[in-house]
Amino acid sequence: MQIPFLELKKEYLLIKKEINTAIEKVLTSGKVVLGKEVEEFEEAMAKFCDVQYAIAVNSGTTALFISLLALNISAGDEIITTPFSFIAPTEMIKLVGAKPVFVDINASTFNINPEKIEEKITNKTKAIIVVHLYGQLVNMVPIKNLADKYNLKIIEDGAQALGAQYKNQKIFSFGHIGCLSFFPTKILGAYGEGGMVLTNDLKLANKIRKIRVHGDEGRYEHIILGLNARLETLQAAILKVKLNYVPDWIIARQNIANKYNELLKNTVSVPFVENGNVHVYNIYTICVPDRDQLKKYLDNKGIQTQIYYPKPLHLQKVLANLKYKKGDFPLSEKKAKEVLSLPLHPLLSNEEIEIIATTIKKYYRVI
Ligand SMILES: *Cc1c(COP(=O)(O)O)cnc(C)c1O
Repeated sequence: MQIPFLELKKEYLLIKKEINTAIEKVLTSGKVVLGKEVEEFEEAMAKFCDVQYAIAVNSGTTALFISLLALNISAGDEIITTPFSFIAPTEMIKLVGAKPVFVDINASTFNINPEKIEEKITNKTKAIIVVHLYGQLVNMVPIKNLADKYNLKIIEDGAQALGAQYKNQKIFSFGHIGCLSFFPTKILGAYGEGGMVLTNDLKLANKIRKIRVHGDEGRYEHIILGLNARLETLQAAILKVKLNYVPDWIIARQNIANKYNELLKNTVSVPFVENGNVHVYNIYTICVPDRDQLKKYLDNKGIQTQIYYPKPLHLQKVLANLKYKKGDFPLSEKKAKEVLSLPLHPLLSNEEIEIIATTIKKYYRVI
């Protein structure tokens, strides 16, 4: 028995007819760059996220890069973020010439610990990039208070948390800018690459739209520096179809996570959800002291797992010039050794969940 981490082909076969129709429509229209499909997808996403403006771009990484450009973040600026994340937010901070300043995580949610942010704020601090890891929002109220107090911008990296809520408030209702990724592993995944920048600020939205296409005002009048960051029309057409399924897919993810929790809670440390939060479980992560051995055991039994993320960012070679060292962010370092993500996608069957849970319990000799 093989249980893969994801089932992209199975998912495609279920919605094949609609997807193929959408693709064919784009190809026969002859309009393959931006156009109606992209605009309609942006409108649908703005509505889904309850945000006024949504600008589709070609990846989540580009979305972060453009957000920093739009906020004029550059050399000399400091941006507070988490060392326990995919590298993209930190990498983009470096690429615009600014300095990432890390703050350790909360041990139970894996998200940045708001209580440790204020001591890192200096007169160079311009923004905070929060990463809503695995599908649970960061504790945003204290962060919003700090941002107001010190006049900082907030960028929400929501690549893993489309549809998540914090105390009845939706993702992207806290930050000045929100970013999404449509990488195939995300809750809403393209058949290729994609991303999005979301904001309620009209001025920022206009600027971001210009940056998306070389700062072009039209007719090759360039007023700011930008790049080519357009989302492909084909991907927009695909994503527009898939968005209709997202509410059901999120419920399916939550049901699977609840089932895992029920079966595993006495054996391993299952995801902790803060009071009042709606977790969307883009990634279902358990925490165990003997992670590498358990992973190997599951691999041998045909169960594919992943580690998000095995090395905290402050220990990455490429960031050595930030001069962080081992021991600087003890919780991030500890969790990087303990986290293990189990297969979780909307098509995971009850039988598969039970096999996975039983295999883990056998490993720990509790059954
Ligand atoms: C996936 C991801 C990104 C990057 O998105 P891409 O579309 O792959 O560029 C950024 N941040 C986080 C937290 C992610 O999970």
